[in-house]
Amino acid sequence: MRKNRRAALAIAFAAVAAIIAAAAVIYINDTLRYMITDSFARIGESLEIKEADEETVSVSLEDLSNDERVSFDQSMMLINADFKLSEDFEPDISEYKDTGVYLNSCANAAFAELSAEVTDRFGEKLYVSSSYRTAEEQQKEIEEAGDVAQELNASEHQAGLALDVYVKYYAGEGFLKSDVGKWVNESCDRYGFIIRYPYYGTGETGIGYEPWHIRYIGLPHSEIIAENSMTLEGYYSSLEIGKLYSCRAGGDDWIITRQTGESFDIPKEFKSATVSSDNAGGYILTFKI
Ligand SMILES: [Zn+2]
Repeated sequence: MRKNRRAALAIAFAAVAAIIAAAAVIYINDTLRYMITDSFARIGESLEIKEADEETVSVSLEDLSNDERVSFDQSMMLINADFKLSEDFEPDISEYKDTGVYLNSCANAAFAELSAEVTDRFGEKLYVSSSYRTAEEQQKEIEEAGDVAQELNASEHQAGLALDVYVKYYAGEGFLKSDVGKWVNESCDRYGFIIRYPYYGTGETGIGYEPWHIRYIGLPHSEIIAENSMTLEGYYSSLEIGKLYSCRAGGDDWIITRQTGESFDIPKEFKSATVSSDNAGGYILTFKI
């Protein structure tokens, strides 16, 4: 009898504690609330990449540039305080749909898809407050924003690979108060973008959570990073130089490899490929097979 009463008391305490916790969550800020919900959603989520045993051939950079299945872009550049852009780096920039927004050409089509999806789902326009910045503009940003801005040549904005996005009334930290903000944070990986400075990765990126700063990196990398709760830094160090990895993402089969040197071991058979500098002395090659 006493045992039952104790159990009932324990349940009652647990229920009260849960109600207090729930009330606390409702009253704490939206960012924290999003982080809690998102952390639960991440449990059990993962996208497996495994070592591939494809037959390979050795090719040079020139062979790759003469292969019409292969395109070169800047999508896979790691840019941070340790891997800065070189002084003579020339970003491949183009205008996004006559909007006055300039971004890296590799991100153009993907951003069009992402913003079309936002309009379809929410009837809202996804605006861009900052995209490509020249070195002079980044310098100005540093002078105006101080610590929040990345050092010169350590900003992805200088490569046009990052976009700061918002919707009407909800910009910056407030982006997560909007349904669009939550959806972009959860789903941009399906369109080739990642939340570059996620809340779970501040130890690796050295930068606080920026739910508004999306970075183009392309498929399948964006899905691998997001679904495995990784950072770009963590992802790069997980790719062993010279190894081939396979995965399935976005309905396609992929082979990924990070290589250095003059020649590259690539899969014998593939449909198309993208080659990008990793901005760390090597290349990342991505094959659709
Ligand atoms: Zn940004």
